[in-house]
Amino acid sequence: MPEGPEIRRAADELAVVLDRRIAKHVAFGLPHLKCHDALLSGRRIEAVESRGKALLLHFADGWSVYTHNQLYGRWQVVAAGKRPNTTRQLRLAIDTRDASALLYSASDILVCQREALAEHPYLAGLGLELLAPQTTEEAVRARCDEARFQRRALGGLLLDQGFLAGIGNYLRSDILYAAGVRPDWRLGDLQPLQRAALADACLSLTRQAYRSGGVTNNLHRAAGLKKSGMCYSRYRHLVFDREGEPCWTCGTLIIRELAAGRNVFLCPACQAGR
Ligand SMILES: [Zn+2]
Repeated sequence: MPEGPEIRRAADELAVVLDRRIAKHVAFGLPHLKCHDALLSGRRIEAVESRGKALLLHFADGWSVYTHNQLYGRWQVVAAGKRPNTTRQLRLAIDTRDASALLYSASDILVCQREALAEHPYLAGLGLELLAPQTTEEAVRARCDEARFQRRALGGLLLDQGFLAGIGNYLRSDILYAAGVRPDWRLGDLQPLQRAALADACLSLTRQAYRSGGVTNNLHRAAGLKKSGMCYSRYRHLVFDREGEPCWTCGTLIIRELAAGRNVFLCPACQAGR
């Protein structure tokens, strides 16, 4: 499932071809949304935005399209008017003079006035947005100090978009490792230094993943591994999806556990101490 950084990169890619362009033709694939084709066709697109794992397209006169890709949704940018040969369901096509933006397979799509987005259950429930430029290290540390989160185990808490928006499963494993903490520990049990390390890792790794195209490993180390011929999927992460491989730092074999129903990867040595 794409995480916050991947959605933000998709939004950036869409912004290049859609921002401040006229959407000459807009076509929805789902029958109940077809009534909006004529409403949005010919209208100017004013901004493309990502919030958590949702992507928002803002049109002139206050109209917005909300999309959430869930597991299978995918945006693709192609030459104007082109339609790739695929078995995927085309759910939204936006043609400008120079390019087409196509959304495949997503079913969570809504058209509404921009101010109504504030009441959308997913958006209204989002916590602190890690990829928002105004989000500071201090704000994330303050979030981690809030009383209502202290009894929550870290493994479930980090996936809760109402706590911090944008973290998904690969970021969760690598953030826990970077902070040297275990998924079954409660936030309230952390020492002050561990809590600060966790807050800082949430912000820095999410932003690094956005800038680097999904690399959460130490960037210097990742560059060296890449140079040595290692493929992207093997060098990109600190511990995620590395079960049975040696920890980059101490050599202990990485293990896999379940936390909040999903795989979490950890180094039993680096994430043991209290
Ligand atoms: Zn280790």
